[in-house]
Amino acid sequence: MKKWIFLWLFIITLTQLNAQQQLNYVLNQQANNNSITIHISFDALPASDANLVIPRSAPGTYILTNYIAYVDDVVAYTISGKELSGMIGDGSYFTFGNTRELIHKVSYSVDLQNMETELLDASTSSKARKDYLGLFGYSVFGFIEGLEAAAIQLTIITDPSWPIFSTLRPETTRKYGSDRYEVENYAVLVDAQYLLGKDVQVMQVPDAPIPLFIAAYAETSIDLKNIGNKGLLGLRQLADYFGYIPMPHYTLVYEYLNPISARHDYGFNMEHLNSMTAHRDISKTYDIDRELGNIIHHIGHSWLPLRSYGEGYRPFAWQVAPLIETIWLNEGFIWYVSFHDILQNTSILNWWQSNLDNAPDFIKTKNLKELSLLGSTQYASDFRIGKNLFSRGALMAYDLDVFIQQHSHGKASFKDAILGLLNWSKEHQRPFKYDEIEPIMSEATGVDLSSVWQKWQKAPE
Ligand SMILES: [Zn+2]
Repeated sequence: MKKWIFLWLFIITLTQLNAQQQLNYVLNQQANNNSITIHISFDALPASDANLVIPRSAPGTYILTNYIAYVDDVVAYTISGKELSGMIGDGSYFTFGNTRELIHKVSYSVDLQNMETELLDASTSSKARKDYLGLFGYSVFGFIEGLEAAAIQLTIITDPSWPIFSTLRPETTRKYGSDRYEVENYAVLVDAQYLLGKDVQVMQVPDAPIPLFIAAYAETSIDLKNIGNKGLLGLRQLADYFGYIPMPHYTLVYEYLNPISARHDYGFNMEHLNSMTAHRDISKTYDIDRELGNIIHHIGHSWLPLRSYGEGYRPFAWQVAPLIETIWLNEGFIWYVSFHDILQNTSILNWWQSNLDNAPDFIKTKNLKELSLLGSTQYASDFRIGKNLFSRGALMAYDLDVFIQQHSHGKASFKDAILGLLNWSKEHQRPFKYDEIEPIMSEATGVDLSSVWQKWQKAPE
């Protein structure tokens, strides 16, 4: 009995040590150099126990991206001053041999030019340009396996003439040459974006309910104020709908780019905890009227799924693209809120239905869960899968809305169902299980939603 208690105490102490440890990350970049170096320092541990993991995916990307292909010069440093070369492991990680020698630091370089050339989807790649560096955290920062929960101090070092901006702590007054950030853990570090260089424009939108920023890089002239107005309008409408704002601050990051090839795709945008990133191909005309819907949709993700989600979304298995059963909810419910409820575009129901009707058989024959599992890695790379997932989720939301309003005699609506999910997550602080979704919504609305739920679980007829 005693032995077990000691073992237990030992495990608890180890876990606490890891959680208490502060890691130091240093991102080093020389102006107009297309690669960066990263240094990660930690409490010494045997080299044989240290795996440097490079992410292969991130929450909400629904894609498998081989970021390790752009990582080079991987080295571990022993406390006695020796250097050990990193060797690629069986997956997306580096090892440092079988030695029990203690190491306390690793470093590596990331080739951003190669990354952008090879990744055809602009929403997955960081960008390096003259006087500009735009980084997605998860595309450049790796971690020592087992230390994901530890707090991080991040130092960014660049040319003294370059200002530094991060969505971690958005400010209009930027530091030049170097800046430092205290970050809760690895997931928060890589969820953020980092914009460096003389060509980054930053604006704070006045009169916003939370500090609201636009950060942009443009290879054409742009109207920052206009984007700011749309961002503010979108944020206010979402705040009215949900009745509260969970983000401490928010940044809309925009990149207006000359396409680097005809095959590169600039159509996808990405949501993060407190920011969104949009890309625009400036060689193509873009319908500015679509912008508000796009903004509402992506800011809306800061409520769901970023702060209320099913299993697999968070905590995230960074070194694989995990299978996720609830992409239809993550995307479809926010499509419904954005376009149907807030923008009151009821004709969009027909478009969602046409996405189902026109789908190929390999999509049509899949039930909801199966299609979500397929979309976990191929949501955007075959966008017929992505469109089908959000269309099924949005049409389910519509059916739920009609059913709830009818059976509650107008006292409740779909909004109560989605608020039910958000409140449940706030209370339970864990991902909801698949079979918990319908009961949570039924309880929140006071209407038994099992018949609508069952109907949408099946493959469409
Ligand atoms: Zn989305």
